[in-house]
Amino acid sequence: MAKDVLVNWEKKSGERKKIYKQFLDRVPKNTVLKQLPDLHDEAFEKVDCLTCANCCKNYSPRFKTPDVKRISRHLRMKESVFIETYLKVDDDGDYVVKTAPCPFLGSDNYCTIYEDRPSDCHRFPYTDEDVFIKRPVLTLKNATFCPITYYVLEKLIEHDRKG
Ligand code: SF4
Ligand code: SF4
Repeated sequence: MAKDVLVNWEKKSGERKKIYKQFLDRVPKNTVLKQLPDLHDEAFEKVDCLTCANCCKNYSPRFKTPDVKRISRHLRMKESVFIETYLKVDDDGDYVVKTAPCPFLGSDNYCTIYEDRPSDCHRFPYTDEDVFIKRPVLTLKNATFCPITYYVLEKLIEHDRKG
């Protein structure tokens, strides 16, 4: 893979969607799981989330009960007021933010509730857990807007080709 794999990554990711799908459908899960920790670290070294924030700008995490409790406590708000102010229920019955970008995203792309952010935010984009391979539809969607997901997929495919 060329060093500049991240140049024009959005365009390349769109063009290679079929290849990613075929790869995720056939690759042995254990092979991927062994490689993910190193590739996850490598991707986060290459990509600065603070210059991106595509996830926080366009998609909402789920706010599970422990998230709501922790964040409302942090904001010194009653849970009911916190929910009323910021959240709505989505089609899956989960609490998500009412508006995009996320109301907790600062203008400098820092998360203003970082230490207490929802578990989904902490885990995103799942490049160091089995969700990455177990939920290919989610991974394929994330590859369209998240350069870290794109990078990890490209590297996995490159390693696969080399055998
Ligand atoms: S979309 Fe991916 S690269 Fe961009 S901020 Fe989110 S996790 Fe980081
Ligand atoms: S809570 Fe923070 S990390 Fe999560 S989407 Fe909002 S700004 Fe991003």
